[in-house]
Amino acid sequence: MDSTTATAELGWTVYPVSGSSDNSWEEVSGYDENMNTIRTYQVCNVFDNNQNNWVRTKYIRRRGAQRIHVEMKFSVRDCSSIPNVPGSCKETFNLYYYESDADTATRTSPAWMENPWIKVDTIAADESFSQVDLGGRVMKINTEVRSFGPVSRNGFYLAFQDYGGCMSLIAVRVFYRKCPRIITNGALFQETLSGAESTSLVAARGVCIPNAEEVDVPIKLYCNGDGEWMVPIGRCMCKAGNEAVENGTVCRACPSGFFKPTQKDEPCMQCPINSRTTSEGAMNCVCRNGYYRTDSDPLQMPCTTVPSAPQTVISSVNETSVMLEWMPPRDSGGREDVVFNIICKSCGGGRGGCTRCGDNVQFLPRQLGLTEPRVYISDLLAHTQYTFEVQAVNGVSDQSPYSPQYASVNITTNQAAPSTVSIMHQVSRTVDSITLSWSQPDQPNGVILDYELHYYEKDQSEYNATAIRSQTNTVVIRGLKPGSIYVFQVRARTVAGFGRYSGKLYFQTMTEEEYNTSIQEKLPLIIGSAAAGLVFLIAVVVIIIVCNRRRGFDRPDSEYTDKLQHYTSGHMTPGMKIYIDPFTYEDPNEAVREFAKEIDISCVKIEQVIGAGEFGEVCSGNLRLPGKREMFVAIKTLKSGYTEKQRRDFLSEASIMGQFDHPNVIHLEGVVTKSSPVMIITEFMENGSLDSFLRQNDGQFTVIQLVGMLRGIASGMKYLADMNYVHRDLAARNILVNSNLVCKVSDFGLSRFLEDDTSDPTYTSALGGKIPIRWTAPEAIQYRKFTSASDVWSYGIVMWEVMSYGERPYWDMTNQDVINAIEQDYRLPPPMDCPSALHQLMLDCWQKDRNNRPKFSQIVNNLDKMIRNPNTLKAMTPLSSGVHLPLLDRSIPDFSSFSTVDEWLDAIKMGQYKDNFANADFSTFDVVSQMTMDDILRVGVTLAGHQKKILNSVQMMRAQMNQIQSVEV
Ligand code: AMP
Repeated sequence: MDSTTATAELGWTVYPVSGSSDNSWEEVSGYDENMNTIRTYQVCNVFDNNQNNWVRTKYIRRRGAQRIHVEMKFSVRDCSSIPNVPGSCKETFNLYYYESDADTATRTSPAWMENPWIKVDTIAADESFSQVDLGGRVMKINTEVRSFGPVSRNGFYLAFQDYGGCMSLIAVRVFYRKCPRIITNGALFQETLSGAESTSLVAARGVCIPNAEEVDVPIKLYCNGDGEWMVPIGRCMCKAGNEAVENGTVCRACPSGFFKPTQKDEPCMQCPINSRTTSEGAMNCVCRNGYYRTDSDPLQMPCTTVPSAPQTVISSVNETSVMLEWMPPRDSGGREDVVFNIICKSCGGGRGGCTRCGDNVQFLPRQLGLTEPRVYISDLLAHTQYTFEVQAVNGVSDQSPYSPQYASVNITTNQAAPSTVSIMHQVSRTVDSITLSWSQPDQPNGVILDYELHYYEKDQSEYNATAIRSQTNTVVIRGLKPGSIYVFQVRARTVAGFGRYSGKLYFQTMTEEEYNTSIQEKLPLIIGSAAAGLVFLIAVVVIIIVCNRRRGFDRPDSEYTDKLQHYTSGHMTPGMKIYIDPFTYEDPNEAVREFAKEIDISCVKIEQVIGAGEFGEVCSGNLRLPGKREMFVAIKTLKSGYTEKQRRDFLSEASIMGQFDHPNVIHLEGVVTKSSPVMIITEFMENGSLDSFLRQNDGQFTVIQLVGMLRGIASGMKYLADMNYVHRDLAARNILVNSNLVCKVSDFGLSRFLEDDTSDPTYTSALGGKIPIRWTAPEAIQYRKFTSASDVWSYGIVMWEVMSYGERPYWDMTNQDVINAIEQDYRLPPPMDCPSALHQLMLDCWQKDRNNRPKFSQIVNNLDKMIRNPNTLKAMTPLSSGVHLPLLDRSIPDFSSFSTVDEWLDAIKMGQYKDNFANADFSTFDVVSQMTMDDILRVGVTLAGHQKKILNSVQMMRAQMNQIQSVEV
């Protein structure tokens, strides 16, 4: 409301009504500074006492305002300038307001007094004037602003009360304050009215402008009492693919050829080299055909491509090794992560064509991922043509449909002598002969013409050694002295000459006594177990052997000769199928086609999800193949969004599994690759994985049942080892159990070993891949020597897992502690209630030298014997009564091989305390085995290391004693 804009009379209500005895406010026309006509109210009753003159404005609508501001322009006459003026003369007036929902005021209501009116303030002039010029020409005008609030009714009236002054109310302007609609910080704020108090801050939420998004907190501004925006909180920023323009009031899509990857406050960037956008508003630029990016390449980096082939490969052959060197590729594809892989093919091996080299070829420093342009390849076959492809690959090679560029070189190895015979063992012995057998050298390097065995009596000089030739890998050495130890060494010969001699081995002939008792021992065994037909048969065989021996000491018995014949043909029976690594196929899909049957998806009915595999869900369901009975199956699926590499890795498991056919190896039914999702279908194993099955059934099985499970696993592993397949991840978690408790080896996936895959802590990163440390043989951890012998080590761990019903091997020890403990010859103790025979078998599997570990065939035989003869499972190590036993220190010698405490002290390298022990009367094993730390101190061992060594050895002695006693019982 602005009184100066009134074109007609203001017509405000006056009290007392004019015309009565005293004159109240009177509306008068006048002029403002600019000589515009204005309407004013004047009053000047200074000579009359008790003045109370009111003028009330018209009804003023509130219009949503909470606080009202009133600007008054007025002039007041200075009382002292009026001659004879009474003391009641005033130079101030009062401002009031009255709220009302409607314009209901009359001449008498609201009553002309404070309450109902609310007083805003008493208004005084800054300047008064002495001389009035009612023509308005010499007026001194005061301007005062007052405000009040909160107001809440629809409107209000203002009133001005004079109580004895001489003044003129020239103009009244009524207003409220608001903050305007603005765009700031990437958001639009609507017009907002100020709050009820002058200090109030009214919060207003902003709305992000199109294509902008809030960052972190909701965006806000506050409108203050003066109608100004303040305290901005939060902000909106242009989304990825959009940049801020026009002073931040508009988010504009990045133009073509530009991109913005994030929501940051930064401009769009030009696409890096070899990339382009496909539309406006791009968040990234896609690589041009033939160019790629790895997941870790920044989007600002140019797209890169595969490297060209390595250049000029030079080879230098030395017997059965070759050194290859080459120049880096001319074009690195724009990347710095070029490495080299070597593909080895042996050619002309009789079958025409070339085949991939076997596992035995050694590459130094390694075969794949070479960073330097050279490699040393050894253990090749002699006299053989090889082709080596040196591939150059970089971070994007696996995305390119073109197989890596390579340079190849052909070489022919030279003649080389056979490698050393590594395993020799005694087959039988008599009082004057020993029958020995050995395996072929790992690298015969040609046809073995014969072997030379060289032997001499241990106490004699090596110069008196006798050499005998044998065309087979078995020989009977006759004419030996009874009860004597002989030293044997053997070497193989090919056209290239002799190989090196094997290490020295000692074997002893029988004494006459031993010979006689060995026969007597066998007789009760035969009679005692004659109940079983099978055993009876064995007995007959034994009798025949015994009889044969009696008839002539120096004739090899025919039973053995049969068995030994088997040895002569090597461990691979001719015609035996050999596992083929699917990755040796140029196109791994080819391997899937060859080894896995394609199943039509219409034959598969998925029922429920039973687990999570590495590549997707594992489900159970039904498979109905045409003309076959419906069967229950497990279905592994490949989750959508996979890369070509993931598909390949996923299906590689099927191409491996499809090559196997054994009751203790999980059976592949087929694959679904022609529809989505891609699936691998296997037989269904009702009891799931062995580790969780055992944990759920803790203590529920008989020892024979457990050994039965172990026998099954060993049998499956024997089959795999015979196929030349090395599992590398044999563990209870990878054995599945069906409803008949049949255990089957599973999990032939390879990808969990890959560096970049899975975050499963079981698999620890090691140079060139991931390794399940607790299950893995030390040579495989140290230098990746994965063989069936390292699988045997893992099998020992599985035995321990089974006998402890799924306990975690090495409990909560760290992987590094496990590695250190194994290196220092510590081994897992027997689990609770574990028969000693089984623990002994575990310890055999954990021999440091892999050649000393049993073969799976021996493990199967051993377990079969235990099953047939459960008495052998009765002996328990009393050690096994506690669960958290310390690891066994296998470096401490068995005390029973010594006859005195002194000898024993020497053996544990504590010979310097012999006198101390003797003086304190610790002179028999019985008392020593009871020694405590206090005793050791008392004897006078003061060095902490020695105290520990002796205490460990004493504990070991105690355990060994208990074991002997229990076996005797
Ligand atoms: P995998 O990816 O092979 O480790 O499988 C994940 C989980 O699915 C396993 O731990 C099992 O619990 C379950 N599973 C896999 N194959 C089978 C099967 N043939 N029968 C029953 N359960 C299975």
